[in-house]
Amino acid sequence: MPMDKEKFAREALDRLAAKYGRNLHTELSHKNITELFVAVLLSPQCTDKQINNVTPELFDRFRTFSQYADADARTLMRYLKGANYYKTKARNLKKAAGIIVDRFDGKVPKTLEELMELPGVGRKVANVVLNEGFGINEGIAIDTHCITVAGRLKLSKHRNPEKIERDIMRLLPKDEWGRISNLMIALGRDTCTAREKECRRCCLSEICPSSDAKKNTEKIGNKQDWFSELSGA
Ligand code: SF4
Repeated sequence: MPMDKEKFAREALDRLAAKYGRNLHTELSHKNITELFVAVLLSPQCTDKQINNVTPELFDRFRTFSQYADADARTLMRYLKGANYYKTKARNLKKAAGIIVDRFDGKVPKTLEELMELPGVGRKVANVVLNEGFGINEGIAIDTHCITVAGRLKLSKHRNPEKIERDIMRLLPKDEWGRISNLMIALGRDTCTAREKECRRCCLSEICPSSDAKKNTEKIGNKQDWFSELSGA
């Protein structure tokens, strides 16, 4: 009997959780919500390692959003130099901190809409801040790893992060949205990288529609059916 797409998504999530952990969190170093917000704001187009290299000194020097808002943008740039697009990010950080101070009493806002009003904050950044910082699942953070993995698992036919997010939100319950993002990232860093897939050592090899090492095609049913349904074809 073919597995339907929701069951497939659940099975994939359970297998990934068994392999990579049930409580995965971002690898961006932080000790509080202010540091988390800043680290996530700086993270687009960078590796976590890059950001973890620049944040220790930054976090030593700046503790509050008032301090970021009052800082000269060029001073912030000096601290952020190890990050890609550091000039733009320094300006965004200063502006976002100013808005957080003026409109949100110096505290990181807790809704997707409010977060996305801040300079440099898109859906991915907002979703990570909400999930990691407050345990709130309003959406699914989709990064480049998630795009690769979602495509190979045929959870979505799209390459656009918002469309992928929407497709996966339809497949899994809300309380799993934060977890599936971190698990897809873990898979995308391990066996299912954009450059190559190592299906033989992947925990999804038996059920994945793109597996090179599929051992039991019965279990996955007709992959084309899911793909057609997801794409609305
Ligand atoms: S089985 Fe292969 S294609 Fe499928 S998720 Fe694993 S590494 Fe990627």
